[in-house]
Amino acid sequence: MCAAISVERCSKCPSQSILYQVYSGQHLCGKCLSDSVRKKTSRELRKQLILPKNARHDDGTPFRLLVAISGGKDSAVLLSLIVDIIGKRRDVEIIAGCVDEGIDGYRKPSMECAIELSKTLGIKFVSISYSELGYEEMDTVVSKMPRMSELHDEAKGMMPCSFCGVFRRQGLNALARKTNADIMALGHNLDDMAQSILMNLQKGDIERSVRLAPHTESPLEGLTPRIVPLRWIPEQEIHAHAVVSKLPFFHGDCPHAPGAMRQLSRDIVADLEEQTPGARHGLLHSLEEIRRLYNNSNDIIISKAKKCSICNEVTSREICQACTMKKWLSEA
Ligand code: SF4
Ligand SMILES: [Zn+2]
Ligand SMILES: [Zn+2]
Repeated sequence: MCAAISVERCSKCPSQSILYQVYSGQHLCGKCLSDSVRKKTSRELRKQLILPKNARHDDGTPFRLLVAISGGKDSAVLLSLIVDIIGKRRDVEIIAGCVDEGIDGYRKPSMECAIELSKTLGIKFVSISYSELGYEEMDTVVSKMPRMSELHDEAKGMMPCSFCGVFRRQGLNALARKTNADIMALGHNLDDMAQSILMNLQKGDIERSVRLAPHTESPLEGLTPRIVPLRWIPEQEIHAHAVVSKLPFFHGDCPHAPGAMRQLSRDIVADLEEQTPGARHGLLHSLEEIRRLYNNSNDIIISKAKKCSICNEVTSREICQACTMKKWLSEA
């Protein structure tokens, strides 16, 4: 973990340090930290988003990069850095997109931050709500969860995020279609990645890990490829960079988050990092290695991709999880 405040000098310049990177042994001031975040993001963006000199489509329209934003710090940093790094390219259009889950006291103020940031950066902002997608708002979903558990064994023990994660994924797919996006950028940071890898490993789900973004080298059939330029940057550094850069972002947490599997994984990853600095990097490196070993897995992944018989979205089942959940909701 990184200590938040330190009285040390920056390891790179005479300024006072604001953050200690335990995993690298460096103290960083606000400016050097921001430079490092930008540099890492730029390097990943170049690796994950391979654009020709002129990325326009044959019909002259620009290449469209949809940046999924939530109003939180990660996506605020992602959008501002993408605009900073490739925003001047006339052949690329950057669009900010937000999924509105319908969570009282959380989504509205966070979406206002997302709109404000997009406006400041001169980026078009689009959104889509769960109701527009045909789902109930998350607050209603949560109120119906006990009844759904009574009616369906599969719904027993599910947490709000189990539903929300599935619906949000459909929301992002719908946003990609709505904006004709060629690529979608997500704000996952190093902690998010390490947590996802750990959760998939403990479920024995290697394939799900292999399917994690970036999809640069292994696009998934029927899905707008995702990139994750912040994946090597720890959450705390992104937070510090967002504060130093005075980006508008919402500080609150989702009221439905407590109890989710990810919360447990978050604590485990934080503990692991504290005991063995560099553990998060190690988990992500492991995934890279697994992905490399799985290199010929494209055939396996694609052969398993089917279309949902109800909504036509890509799924590994006959009826996708979103449609199954939608049915449970209508019955509850
Ligand atoms: S914490 Fe869970 S319920 Fe809340 S927005 Fe995230 S996925 Fe949805
Ligand atoms: Zn410095
Ligand atoms: Zn479906």
